[in-house]
Amino acid sequence: MRQIAIYGKGGIGKSTTTQNLTAGLVEHGKKVMVVGCDPKADSTRLLLGGLAQKTVLDTLREEGEDVSLDHIVKEGFGGTRCVESGGPEPGVGCAGRGIITSINMLENQGAYTDDLDFVFYDVLGDVVCGGFAMPIREGKAQEIYIVASGEMMALYAANNISKGIKKYARSGGVRLGGIICNSRNVDREIPLLRAFAKELNTQLLYFVPRDNIVQHAEINKQTVIQYKPTSAQAQEYRNLAEAIINNTSLTVPTPMTQERLEEILQEFGLMESANEYQI
Ligand code: ADP
Ligand code: MG
Repeated sequence: MRQIAIYGKGGIGKSTTTQNLTAGLVEHGKKVMVVGCDPKADSTRLLLGGLAQKTVLDTLREEGEDVSLDHIVKEGFGGTRCVESGGPEPGVGCAGRGIITSINMLENQGAYTDDLDFVFYDVLGDVVCGGFAMPIREGKAQEIYIVASGEMMALYAANNISKGIKKYARSGGVRLGGIICNSRNVDREIPLLRAFAKELNTQLLYFVPRDNIVQHAEINKQTVIQYKPTSAQAQEYRNLAEAIINNTSLTVPTPMTQERLEEILQEFGLMESANEYQI
C-alpha cells in the first residue's frame, strides 16, 4: 500500500487532480482510498457523483464517539473509498484537528485493509504546519506530491511546503516524489517548473494542461475519465496515474531562499507579472 499526500496552495487543483488521477488508477485495476483533509470537504465530490458526504467530524458531533466505518467511508467511482475529515466551524479551533481525528478513527476501525494499493491524503495548505502536517508527521504518508503552476504564489507555496517536508524527512521516512504542474497557461511554464523542481532536488513529474472540459465534468459531478473517456484530458490523467505508478524518484527536498526563488522567476521573465501581486 502506498500512502501519498498531495499538497499545494488553495485553489491550485489538488482535489480535481487527485480525483481524476484516482479514476486513472481505477482503470488500472488499482484499489484506492481518498481522504479529504480540507475543511472545505470537497475532495471526493467527483468520485461520489456529487453525493454530499458527511464529514468524520460532523458524524462524531452528531452520533458520538461510537461511529462505524460505513458511516464515514463511502464507496465512489470504481469502488474507491471516500472519506472527508471535515473541519471546525469557521473561526473556531484548529483546522488540522479533523485530520488527526479522522486518521486515528480510520485506523482504529480497520479502514486500511491490505487490498488497498493507494491511499491519497488531499491536504489544504500553503505551509505544512500543525494538523496539516499530520499525514506526514506521523509517518502515515511516506510519499508526497506538490501541485503547483507557473504562478509565483503557487511556487512560493510549493517552496514553503518543501520546508515542512524537509523537516519531517529528517525525523521520518517521508520523501518528495515530485511536482505536478497543473497548468495556468503561464509563459514558459514547463521550463520554469523544471528549473524550480531541479533546484528543489526533485522532478517535474507531470504537466497537466488547463482544459475547460475539467469544468464541464465538474458541473456534471464527475471526473473527466467518466465524463468524456475519449477526450485528450482524460488521457492526460491516465498518463499522470501511470507516472505515479512508475515513479521511483523519492528525495529529500532542498528548499530555496526567497531570493533564489525570485532569481529563477526572473530568469524566466516572470518578475514583471509577479510585481503586480504587490500593488
Ligand atoms: P484545490 O483542491 O487545490 O483547492 P480544486 O481542485 O478545487 O483546488 O480546483 C480549483 C478549480 O480549478 C476547480 O473549480 C477546477 O475545476 C479547476 N481546475 C483544476 N484543474 C484544472 C485543469 N487542469 N483545467 C481546468 N480547470 C481546472
Ligand atoms: Mg481541494
